[in-house]
Amino acid sequence: MELATLMIHAGAEPDPSTGAIMTPIYQTSTFVQQAPGVHKGYEYARSQNPTRFALESALAAIEQGKYALAFSSGVAATDAVLKLLQPGDEVIAANDMYGGTYRLFTKVYEKFGIHFKFTDTTLPQNVQNAISPKTKLIWIETPTNPLMNITDIAAIAAIAKKANVLLCVDNTFASPFLQNPLLLGADIVMHSATKYLSGHSDVIQGCLVMNDDALRDQLYFIQKSCGAVPGPMDCFLVLRGIKTLHVRMERHCENGATVAHFLRNHPKVAHVYWCGFEDHPGYAVAQKQMRGYGGMMSFTLKDDSVENAKRVLSSTHLFSLAESLGGVESLINHPASMTHASIPREERLKNGLTDSLIRLSVGIEDEKDLIDDLNKAIG
Ligand SMILES: *Cc1c(COP(=O)(O)O)cnc(C)c1O
Repeated sequence: MELATLMIHAGAEPDPSTGAIMTPIYQTSTFVQQAPGVHKGYEYARSQNPTRFALESALAAIEQGKYALAFSSGVAATDAVLKLLQPGDEVIAANDMYGGTYRLFTKVYEKFGIHFKFTDTTLPQNVQNAISPKTKLIWIETPTNPLMNITDIAAIAAIAKKANVLLCVDNTFASPFLQNPLLLGADIVMHSATKYLSGHSDVIQGCLVMNDDALRDQLYFIQKSCGAVPGPMDCFLVLRGIKTLHVRMERHCENGATVAHFLRNHPKVAHVYWCGFEDHPGYAVAQKQMRGYGGMMSFTLKDDSVENAKRVLSSTHLFSLAESLGGVESLINHPASMTHASIPREERLKNGLTDSLIRLSVGIEDEKDLIDDLNKAIG
């Protein structure tokens, strides 16, 4: 089935008891058994919930995987992957990624004896060089948040396979509509479903998608044992969001291209980070592994003082000043003080994330209004 059809039909069986076309919100904590151990496959809602199962089967289908597991947030999904590891294990991670992932790795898992090596994964050789006998996991994000760097998933997957190391790809920025890492050799795909999957800025949720049976069993065990499961109402919302993912993403891509080109041609803009430009260092790889370039981008101004950046950040009307991304409405964000404040300043600067960088999540409004809003704010 083509992706657009899958988005609408995957996981959606009419409700067996009533024929309801939409999966009901099974707002229940437990399920009645006919006799001890005799039941319909549902015992207790932390372990099994029909609304969550419908969502998980939709997520697996649209990410071109066999299994999916939903979590109460994106970081809870990341946390579940880290729980596969033992003290003494090493993780190779991208040096430009979501601040909350960096915080979880360095502030929570370091103290349990897991070691992290951060490197520029846009050069696969760096990952190869960082591999040691203790390496158990490679964690990458592509495109990255907020600098839109591109890592070659197939190249990293080949390195991971040779070293017998798991590769997990945070696919939040691309969404399953633009990129499917499992098809490129990744072992696990992670999403913050809070973003494009839900698409309406009304839910916090995460998920993991994988093909391997044993890996699925281990992660399901962690999901039910540690308990970071999403509630049925939230599962319903993400399931509904997925039904329009393809049409939303097409418009995010169109508007993203228009806004990126507008910014690049603006006399007061210094640099635009967007992976759809032919002279973007990752363009060839992006073209190979993505179906479009999305609506995420960052830019700097020629007057690169923090005050000037803050002036623009406070002057837009349609672009709301807020963390998060991937909703139908456009957002503007200051990574240094908002989404990436948990990364130490020297680390940020080393990786090119300056104090004056502005990030946009371009929504699906009319592009003329978006350009007009930015034009007035940049002044
Ligand atoms: C938001 C985000 C996360 C964390 O997800 P939550 O749902 O906020 O817990 C992880 N990775 C990326 C790329 C994100 O944008």
